[in-house]
Amino acid sequence: MSKPEKFLETNFELFLRQIKREDLDSVVTQTTPWAYFSQEIYNEQDLGIKGAGGLGVLAADTARVAQKLDIPLIVVTPFYSSHIHQALFDFWHSEHYETLRPRSFGFDKIADFFISTSVDPVVPLEIYEKQMGSVRVIAPYEPNIGPLYSGETGSDHRLYQEVLNGFGGYKFIKQTGFDPSALQLNESPTVFAAIAQLDDYLDQNADFCQALESCRRNTIYTNHTLLQAAEGDFHISQFEHFVFPNIRNVSVINWVRQQFRNDERIKLSTLAIELSGHKNGVSILHAKLSSSNYVDKAGNPAHFDAVTNGISNHWILDEIVAEYKQAGIIDDFGLPSDDFLDKLDTLDIDQIRKFKQIGRAKMNEMLSRRQDQYGNPIYIPENAKLFDFKRRMVDYKRVRMVFEDPDRLAGILYDHNAHFIFSGKPPGGDTWMLENLRRFLQTCGSNPILKERVHYVQDYDEEVGLALALGSDCAINVPVVGQEACGTSWMKDIANCKLLISTTDGGVADISPANYLEVKGTNYQEETSSMYEHMRTACEILNDDMKLRLQIFSQLRAYIPIISGARMIKDYLNLRFQR
Ligand SMILES: *Cc1c(COP(=O)(O)O)cnc(C)c1O
Repeated sequence: MSKPEKFLETNFELFLRQIKREDLDSVVTQTTPWAYFSQEIYNEQDLGIKGAGGLGVLAADTARVAQKLDIPLIVVTPFYSSHIHQALFDFWHSEHYETLRPRSFGFDKIADFFISTSVDPVVPLEIYEKQMGSVRVIAPYEPNIGPLYSGETGSDHRLYQEVLNGFGGYKFIKQTGFDPSALQLNESPTVFAAIAQLDDYLDQNADFCQALESCRRNTIYTNHTLLQAAEGDFHISQFEHFVFPNIRNVSVINWVRQQFRNDERIKLSTLAIELSGHKNGVSILHAKLSSSNYVDKAGNPAHFDAVTNGISNHWILDEIVAEYKQAGIIDDFGLPSDDFLDKLDTLDIDQIRKFKQIGRAKMNEMLSRRQDQYGNPIYIPENAKLFDFKRRMVDYKRVRMVFEDPDRLAGILYDHNAHFIFSGKPPGGDTWMLENLRRFLQTCGSNPILKERVHYVQDYDEEVGLALALGSDCAINVPVVGQEACGTSWMKDIANCKLLISTTDGGVADISPANYLEVKGTNYQEETSSMYEHMRTACEILNDDMKLRLQIFSQLRAYIPIISGARMIKDYLNLRFQR
């Protein structure tokens, strides 16, 4: 108790020493924290905020890892006043809303604040805060904010939500006395924080070029989108109404105006590219594709570095994390040890089988509270093999591949006493996907084998993601090559000693040659056939101790360093503070 603070090293100091960045100890501090802006965070249990997919899972994992490492981090993200839930009626997807209040999730209201529009100089909003160790989650809120991603990408309501978080959040943290040493934009809709920062720097510095230079030095734009062309965009009249009234310096307004195209519209990524000195994609392949797809205002290719996503230990069975640590495969920070390859050798098949057993029990416990397509809870016996597909139901992820040949699927499941669980919501307006889902479920309902062995878990969320990561035997991940920015589900699968059947895409493609069951083919039919063959192979591997151990070993050997969330944090620190 009487020990002076200085003798107690924080985890953060120890971590910085471990990654040889002691110089950052006095750079990223409580008053000059890392600021992370995201329109989406996916941590329903602790925060009551439910993201839509990978972007929000990444934001939540970044916060979890930062908390573990005592990193001073401020996450700025809207608190949405409602969530969408899925329920099936006669195999038809339907949605209902749940109303939410920040106080129910341990947030405290810490201030009244405001943003401005052209008709209303004071649009009141409330700032809520929840502190989780060294991480502060700052959540601008207003009862009419609505659910995440309500309205079209280029709609007024979206812009309002983005301005609320970007301008509201940035101005609030500055006013409170924080001076961020890094500003990370988790996708371009958070770019208003960077505009607020530029405006702020200009207040302190008369020279526009210098202010822009400082803004760029401080800012990282993390891109998760594949094509600039596919993004929504805004008209200048929308900016006149929602954006410009929040900017103090005319020179900033003029600069933003100059970024618009001749048709008086703009994509937010254009602004993010111009305002960020550091840009990254979330896997090697994605960074490469982004560098050739994205251009700056002048039409020159923008350069994106690669910082592949990682995950937190939240997604890994506790018993497995304990074993990785005890065996010296990962260190206390979660970084792979220098000799992790040798240490992996100590993992034996009895342990792997034991982990599978514990994971299966946990999964069954979680799925007993959920509903399948018939409204029943799900239970998979311990001796049955289990395949899973758990992703948002968007076309490029191709869950349809599994249902391409129902007889072949039924044959595999029947021959090997296997089940298949899938989960994932189609985006509300996507009628083609909604019809596909109904068709898959009808197909299963009319085939006695599939009726018994294929289960759709309603209302896909983190709990389902975790349950299947822990308790399934083999994950199927078959995005169209070149379309998945990174994906993190497959990381959860590999970390939990499951088999992976996958196309070579996203972060999976960081390593070659393939160490998993690689889905190959020059066209869709060939890929589909390759996937079915791998399902049979997976069953054979699961039946054979030697083969199983070897396969798990080679997956872990390749991906342990990539999966590590602490490794991701290290990469971001090095990206922002280059030497
Ligand atoms: C892990 C996870 C994701 C990320 O999924 P990818 O498709 O691999 O990017 C999305 N949603 C939930 C609920 C998750 O648990």
